[in-house]
Amino acid sequence: MKKFWKTLLSALIIAISFGAFSTANQVDARVKFTRNADFYKNEPENAKPSVLSTITTINKNGTMIYDADTVKQKDVIAAAAAHWNKAVGINLIMSYQEAHVAKADADVVIEPADLPAGIGGVTGYDGYVYETWQNIIKIANTTLNAASSQKGFVQAVSTTSHEMGHALGLNHDPGALMGTSGAAELANGILPAIPDYNVNAVGAILKDLDQLYQDRSRSRFQT
Ligand SMILES: [Zn+2]
Repeated sequence: MKKFWKTLLSALIIAISFGAFSTANQVDARVKFTRNADFYKNEPENAKPSVLSTITTINKNGTMIYDADTVKQKDVIAAAAAHWNKAVGINLIMSYQEAHVAKADADVVIEPADLPAGIGGVTGYDGYVYETWQNIIKIANTTLNAASSQKGFVQAVSTTSHEMGHALGLNHDPGALMGTSGAAELANGILPAIPDYNVNAVGAILKDLDQLYQDRSRSRFQT
């Protein structure tokens, strides 16, 4: 726990010093609370099985930038990002290297972790995340190491896409991405498509980003 705070504190110090000396920072990222925001209202009623979580890591530029430097299986992460980007139709998720921003400005850190058996990935610091802090996605080492086989690769991409869904602001639903209805496809080595209603839900957040970043001229460090 001590190390956790120390890490966060140093991350914040890096972020603050970067902000102080940078005049053109293209990311003003980090975890935002979506509570009380009125998303989805433009979706057709029959397209609303998506469940909004209370947070999103979509930044004010409408992208989600990750730092996956400690993940060996970078092809898994890149494929999961590409899976989302293809579904949404824009370059939504990318590495900080691709975005040409500082490592400390990534919205979400993706890292390997030893997780309890049966858990492929988790998102968030034990459920507690705050604005201006980087979100975190942990992918199980067992999941990542199994990606050397074709089926294992598809499973790892599916797991990572699921966790990215959480980081984007989605909670569990009945679908193949945020639920379990893709299990049969996965068992056959097929990556399930991201349901349209999940794409619509992310689209609603992107469309109403002003609700999250209301006064963009103010300091990014306000809480
Ligand atoms: Zn989940």
